[in-house]
Amino acid sequence: KMNTNLGQHILKNPGVAQAIVDKAGLKQSDIVLEVGPGTGNLTVKILEKARAVQAVEMDPRMAAELTKRVQGTPLEKKLSILLGDVIKTELPYFDVCISNTPYQISSPLVFKLLAHSPAPRVCVLMFQREFAMRLVARPGDPLYCRLSVNAQMWARCTHIMKVDKNNFKPPPKVESSVVRIEPKNPRPPVSYDEWDGLLRIVFVRGNRTIKAGFASKAVMEIVERNYRTWCATNDVPLDDGEDVDMEEEDGEEEMEMEVDDDMGMGGVQKVKVKVGKKKRGKVTEIVRAKVDKVLEETEMADKRAVKCEEGDFLKLLYAFNVEGIHFS
Ligand code: SAM
Repeated sequence: KMNTNLGQHILKNPGVAQAIVDKAGLKQSDIVLEVGPGTGNLTVKILEKARAVQAVEMDPRMAAELTKRVQGTPLEKKLSILLGDVIKTELPYFDVCISNTPYQISSPLVFKLLAHSPAPRVCVLMFQREFAMRLVARPGDPLYCRLSVNAQMWARCTHIMKVDKNNFKPPPKVESSVVRIEPKNPRPPVSYDEWDGLLRIVFVRGNRTIKAGFASKAVMEIVERNYRTWCATNDVPLDDGEDVDMEEEDGEEEMEMEVDDDMGMGGVQKVKVKVGKKKRGKVTEIVRAKVDKVLEETEMADKRAVKCEEGDFLKLLYAFNVEGIHFS
């Protein structure tokens, strides 16, 4: 009996399984990470082409079945199975990742693979169609979102093939697609958290202007807090003495934030944010002026994130950093 909570949809079409493995361009020397091997339909095809497979499987019954499948065959000694949740597992060394992924962990899995060091040469992964399309979406496409910009910052992402749901047992509710993710090597010299921090602000409502994202008091509070930290760690004196006009109220404020916590599928929610005693002081004004200056000088104020390219966000982040404005 399949556990659909674990996204157990077995790929039953051997032609599709072979195509996925072929697209990875495996070398005989490769160590392959497979996430969620299930009963091993992909695993045995990978084992035939690679030096070893490190499989991470959460369901012990699946792991047992796979162990039995290779037992007594020449493939047996090339396979090791790590039992557990791949998101919580410290990954072993691997050259390539291949997976018919459990769809509920798509976003944290992509992030984990992109953050992994040393970077894998290539990842060939099956995802829910919409997630796959978000990964490869370009500026102006309806599905272009923070996930697209994040993924494409660190990797070349290409759509390889559509896979109809009838190729799985049991068939999932949604259609699927295979994507190839090739991490850029060397990794762009940008901080992941800074990059994502900026994207989180400008993609809250990606079709609004960038300056609208920075009109939010809650966003500006975070930016100011980061600026104070930056000044403190860089020995920049903060002229905090003459507060112009003190607002002493403690309160709550509504702020729009992305629902998910990883790479950004585009969902937005209103949340109440606690706003502490606000000093509408000099620093607040200095930060406001810096932000406005950067938005104006980069000519990004009236652009919309959904239409911006990686280069636009890079230009913006760089100009902010020059002013001591940081997002993590
Ligand atoms: N690779 C097999 C195939 O293509 O036929 C099975 C793919 S099935 C879509 C997903 C597999 O991932 C299941 O075997 C499931 O038990 C496993 N799984 C689910 N969540 C997991 C997690 N967090 N970490 C590791 N494996 C997981």
